[in-house]
Amino acid sequence: MTATMSAPTGAKTSLGLHEFGTPGVVPETMRAWVIRENRFGEPLQSFQEEEVPVPVPGDDEVLVRVVAAGVNYNGVWAGLGKPVSVLKGHGRDYHVAGSDCSGIVWSCGKNVTAWKPGDEVVLHCNWEDPAHGKRTKDKGDFLSYDPMASPRCQIWGYETPDGSFAQFCKVQAQQVLPKPKTMTWELASCYALTYFTAYRMLINRGGIQPGEVALIWGGAGGLGSFAIQICKEMGVKAIAVVSSNDKGEKCKELGAVGYINRKEFPNLAYKEGETPDQAKKRADDYKGVGKKIWDILGERRSPDLVFEHSGAETFPASVFLCSRFGRVVICGATTGYNLTFDVRYLWMMQKRIIGSHFANALDCLRANTLLESGRIKPFLSKVYPYDKIPQAHQDMFENKHIGNMTCLVMAAKEGLINSEDLRQS
Ligand code: NDP
Repeated sequence: MTATMSAPTGAKTSLGLHEFGTPGVVPETMRAWVIRENRFGEPLQSFQEEEVPVPVPGDDEVLVRVVAAGVNYNGVWAGLGKPVSVLKGHGRDYHVAGSDCSGIVWSCGKNVTAWKPGDEVVLHCNWEDPAHGKRTKDKGDFLSYDPMASPRCQIWGYETPDGSFAQFCKVQAQQVLPKPKTMTWELASCYALTYFTAYRMLINRGGIQPGEVALIWGGAGGLGSFAIQICKEMGVKAIAVVSSNDKGEKCKELGAVGYINRKEFPNLAYKEGETPDQAKKRADDYKGVGKKIWDILGERRSPDLVFEHSGAETFPASVFLCSRFGRVVICGATTGYNLTFDVRYLWMMQKRIIGSHFANALDCLRANTLLESGRIKPFLSKVYPYDKIPQAHQDMFENKHIGNMTCLVMAAKEGLINSEDLRQS
């Protein structure tokens, strides 16, 4: 694949990392952090820099110059090659991770009139199957108008190969959203994946209602920090679970009514092959957490919704702690995806387990509008320079972070807001 077909005469073969260049004039190659199968492993090993061809947008696609790229778990999973090899999935011999981005539209496919070179944008990561709803490929494609009903919808930068840890990335035009005008590039790059996922989990899939109680695992993490803020906006009492009191206090600042430090419950995590004695200690810790929830709420009440993404170690607790008729909404499995739990608590109390996965374009638009109003704020804890992109992922892998993190790509420094700032810096 080369970019020569979209590069007008006079285009340079490559652009300096911080060189602004001219929107519309596309170079042939770019710098990128590249994952290949022969170096699958922890991020410091799997992410290596290479010079690769600039992707060529299709008719309904857009090429975006990356100004800053948010860090999320997709890059960690892609580099580990676990639980699946993303390279086998998309079939190209290298993968550029990155499912979050703030940037500038650099060129557009011939059908794209919504955007033009120079537009300042953020990207959402739901790649839609263009055939969805047309029933040309698959009878099941008309199960719902929601493009996520298509078995071929994909997560950009994870299941597709041209993500944002590079000078340029390629997306469908429907993935493009206007960048909040007064936000810095780094802030605008860090929220889409986690915020839109949390929004769909709570609002669309979880059907959260004012007056309800939600238990938020990883309350100070990427997903959790947004879940708490959405709950507050919705009039829902959010209780965070965290691994330190510092993180817990941060959750209260974000709007949680209280927090549980999971380190005070050392037997909380489910471990495969546990002895009867360990199982009993775990059950005792569940009761201890339940009691703590009552203390925080000031009444004997269980969470109507449990916000799950930590998976194997926490899932049985989530099912236990959830209220009668409550919902456990799950979108991930950081600690393992084979879940073991006591199903009696599920059926006897008629609880529901609900799967949720990123968000569709409508969820993203609605959530972005709420964010632009200033009522929800990204919790950006750390900004890395371009050459520390592998380290940023390593820190996430080692759970050393809090909130969201991002990496500068075209931006030479923090605090810049628009194209003019980039030109002058
Ligand atoms: P973060 O790492 O930012 O936050 C996760 C939090 O989980 C951490 O802050 C940590 O908080 C908590 N955690 C880690 N280990 C454990 C454990 N053993 N028990 C309980 N809690 C634990 O990640 P994200 O919020 O960005 O993502 C979380 C998961 O959700 C990832 O697996 C990711 O792949 C998935 N995900 C899925 C999406 C989808 O669309 N399906 C979208 C986004 C994320 P603490 O140590 O304070 O308890």
